[in-house]
Amino acid sequence: MKGCAFNVIIQLRELFNVEGQTVKIDDTVSAEELSALGGYEQYASDMRLLGKIANRAGVVTLSYAVSVTLRHLCDRCSEEFEREYGYELTHTLVTSLEDDGGEYEEDYILCPENALDLTELALSDLRLSLPTKILCREDCKGLCPECGKNLNEGGCDCGK
Ligand SMILES: [Zn+2]
Ligand SMILES: [Zn+2]
Repeated sequence: MKGCAFNVIIQLRELFNVEGQTVKIDDTVSAEELSALGGYEQYASDMRLLGKIANRAGVVTLSYAVSVTLRHLCDRCSEEFEREYGYELTHTLVTSLEDDGGEYEEDYILCPENALDLTELALSDLRLSLPTKILCREDCKGLCPECGKNLNEGGCDCGK
């Protein structure tokens, strides 16, 4: 699979088996590596991953912080801009959903092979938290529909 070698894969067998076990997360995935993974996002920085996975009384919890800067085109005025994102997330890791009476929990991450692809998870968490409309600023005025001028840079004479 394309880009596999870049992913941060965490082996969980010991974590699932030993209560009290903790693994620290301190990883960086470079912008080039992120781009090689595909997707339409453009990365303007490396992605930092910090946190830990802990087995407390048999419950394996991942808590981590992800930070990365994305390069966007504004949905309204098409100007390019960069925005820094930082999120703190918590997930419960399970080896099968049966363990939990089959109840579906949104925060549960299924790790059937005792392995977690943290890069993949961080990117999907990031995508889920991005707004559907990405604007360079909240009050972006957009482009004039007649002359195409970027109205953030000043008005035009259309419609006067
Ligand atoms: Zn804009
Ligand atoms: Zn105009």
